[in-house]
Amino acid sequence: MKADQDKCIACKRCFPYCPMGRIQTFKRHDKIAGRVYIEIDQERCTDCGVCFRANICPVKALLQPEMPWPREVRGILSNPLIEFKGSQVPGRGTEEMKTNDVSGRFQAGEVGVGIELGRPGIGAYFKDVEKVAMALMGANIGYELAAENPVTHFMSDKTTGKLRDDVLNEKATSAIIEGKCKIEKLPEALKVLQRVAKEVDTVFTVEVITKVPPEGEIPVKPILEKFGYWYSINTKNNMGLGEPAYKFYGDK
Ligand code: SF4
Ligand code: SF4
Repeated sequence: MKADQDKCIACKRCFPYCPMGRIQTFKRHDKIAGRVYIEIDQERCTDCGVCFRANICPVKALLQPEMPWPREVRGILSNPLIEFKGSQVPGRGTEEMKTNDVSGRFQAGEVGVGIELGRPGIGAYFKDVEKVAMALMGANIGYELAAENPVTHFMSDKTTGKLRDDVLNEKATSAIIEGKCKIEKLPEALKVLQRVAKEVDTVFTVEVITKVPPEGEIPVKPILEKFGYWYSINTKNNMGLGEPAYKFYGDK
């Protein structure tokens, strides 16, 4: 995001709209005697577009130019109106894991493990996303990356989780690593995530997704309880509004 410094009257109306919450990241300069204007901190701005979409600038000084690669990845993951070409899904470029009724990504015996790095106010650099992805891929637990996820697309080596070098210093408001493994491998995955959490300069949440069998017991609940995790049970049910985009096999 840029501010047209000739138009900006430094009214600060846009400041509270920035989810990175960094008024102080806007630098003020004296350009012409008696005049101040702002400059958006390009290092911290994630190109989420919130300030622009708020449409509150009285002089239309906020500009949302197309960003070249690799800066482009910020908007792909942070601006919900930008569609990721690899998946044709806007809003971080990935289908929610909770739409499993339709997508069928996780079958019986499998657990989806998503790691959502960053939050408004802190964001996440891709070098930290890489650390987590490489830790999971290197743990030899059969973690299988989701193919249509942008973070997977940004990898130069999908067997190790290594990201392209040119995106490592880019940052997003949040980025999600998505994949799955067998349920019996979940404890190892959680141990890896506990270890790598101490090595990253951001926060992350862990999402675990399973099919719930007819008897209603959530298969991963005992594992989460053993690890002492606080968890929130969320679900999305297909009430006939979405046709399963995959085939059912046997009793899976
Ligand atoms: S694009 Fe987003 S992060 Fe950048 S200045 Fe605007 S609101 Fe803040
Ligand atoms: S709202 Fe517009 S004029 Fe006011 S500080 Fe922001 S960019 Fe400048």
